[in-house]
Amino acid sequence: MGSVLVYHTINFADGRHDCPEMISPDRFEQQLSWLSRNRKVVPLVDTLSKDRSKAVAITFDDGYRDNLTIALPLLEKYRLPMTLFVVAGFVGGENYLSEDELREIAKHPLVTIGSHGLWHRHFTELVRKDARFELIESQRRLRNIIKAPVNLLAWPYGDCNVELEKLSSECGYRASWSVWKGSNGTHSRWRVPLGNRDNMLRFIAKASGIYGLTEAKWHRVRHSERDPAPQIHSLRYE
Ligand SMILES: [Zn+2]
Repeated sequence: MGSVLVYHTINFADGRHDCPEMISPDRFEQQLSWLSRNRKVVPLVDTLSKDRSKAVAITFDDGYRDNLTIALPLLEKYRLPMTLFVVAGFVGGENYLSEDELREIAKHPLVTIGSHGLWHRHFTELVRKDARFELIESQRRLRNIIKAPVNLLAWPYGDCNVELEKLSSECGYRASWSVWKGSNGTHSRWRVPLGNRDNMLRFIAKASGIYGLTEAKWHRVRHSERDPAPQIHSLRYE
């Protein structure tokens, strides 16, 4: 079984309660070291083909500056590829990549750039016209900055549904990733979020597809118990 991992920010506040998705550089390096020795890590798009279903892919969400300054040098050290899903409207904001930095990281042979929407909104709460605008405008802005096509998407908060999956295809996205929501089809593929509660044992479990399957099922059960009309609330690490 394969696994697509989700990181956000790699920095020095490991253990801070207000930022559970922040992972320290040391811990990140331990994880990369383990992956490089124990798993086949491939570019994200390669996980779409059946023969790579056992592989692991690394993704980053939101577009933090430390993805360039801290994460990339470590990924280079272990020669591991990553896909960076950027919130187009956050580019140039405090702690986020500037346009120049985004251009720089996009040129790196280990890096693929995808969209994470324009303003990181809950897509399932948007009317179709606004959802369409987010999808197309984020793609257009990112393409104009990096001067290359942008055709991969990660849904903010993992929020998607059947209509949105269709819409992302109509807007020219080749594939889209959620977290646990959606069908796990081409436009809502499941990913495994990581945070600073993940010690090495939990990380190894998350880097195996077994964890992904179990967690996805468990998420569905919890969601259907709590709210029969799903996909409104956000989850941790998304
Ligand atoms: Zn996000």
